[in-house]
Amino acid sequence: MVVELSARRNQQKPQIAHEYNRLRRGIRLPLPPLSVEAVTACPICQRPRGSAFATMLDGDRDVAYLVCRRCGHVYQSPRLGRDELAAFYAMGYRELRQGTEGPTAKDLAMQTARARLTVGLVDQQLRSVSRHLDLGSSSGALLEAVRDRFGAQGVGIEPGEVYRRHALARGLRVFPSQAQLVDAGEAPFDLVTAMHVLEHLPDPIQTLADLRREHMKPEGFLLIEVPNLAEHEALELAHLHAFTRSSLKDTAGRAGFRVLWARCHGSFRSPVLRLYITLLAQPTHHPQVRRYPPFAARRSRLVRRIGVAKRRFFTRHFPDWTWQSPERVLSFEPLTPGHQ
Ligand SMILES: [Zn+2]
Repeated sequence: MVVELSARRNQQKPQIAHEYNRLRRGIRLPLPPLSVEAVTACPICQRPRGSAFATMLDGDRDVAYLVCRRCGHVYQSPRLGRDELAAFYAMGYRELRQGTEGPTAKDLAMQTARARLTVGLVDQQLRSVSRHLDLGSSSGALLEAVRDRFGAQGVGIEPGEVYRRHALARGLRVFPSQAQLVDAGEAPFDLVTAMHVLEHLPDPIQTLADLRREHMKPEGFLLIEVPNLAEHEALELAHLHAFTRSSLKDTAGRAGFRVLWARCHGSFRSPVLRLYITLLAQPTHHPQVRRYPPFAARRSRLVRRIGVAKRRFFTRHFPDWTWQSPERVLSFEPLTPGHQ
């Protein structure tokens, strides 16, 4: 398991991260940085020494990204160490993003809407789902939606303590880490979802490979969604990777999956901007490693530059047309898969 989220091991860490964030918000003191580690090789193709891609400020922290010269993947380096990451997600991440550790009404509404879209998509692709595993299950909205639609047994993995308690209180089965799911000896799943999770993981290929080996039926399906480097803001402290459609397909392929389709879209936030990438895949015995085009790093820079320019243009000149208000989300139709 890549992200070690053992509650026992990190008993002290959440408090540290919590205090750190509380102090950082309340008092503008030069606090010592949490320990960080340099990423010495591309997390996708393992080529060493990426070149500088972007730097930005998230809260008070400098965040820097590299781009791989071979495959064009964009990844954060330096980044929080594994213990710090585990502590950050156990307690601190939600507070940093939405000002509170607990689920807000807006967050729950958005999760419910996203779950409806996802179930609509699953409904078009799969005849049935008997066992569903949701990695990063958050409030449990997707587990409930898949259960209600297919009668599936749902199991979640959610490191955030407050969100996990919220899901447990609703009668859902949720573990704090993949290691604890393995220990529980759960039967394999025929649907595994990881919605807006992969960009947070230190080693997404290893995590997906572990899921495939330990938790999936051979004929099962994997559904992933991540922010799109091109047109989503995508770069922030918690995002260790910024995927393009190519690098997401590459990640799934290297983890032992056959990609059925991968599509860029804006559902449900924007009908104009292609903010997200959704991918459907199945386990395979023949891992796919694609050939990389020349100048892959330049391509990633160009894709980002064009995407940011498009986002700025539409946001400035057509804001109401570009962005859908959360209130309208629940009336949206499910995402229709493309054939890209
Ligand atoms: Zn690479």
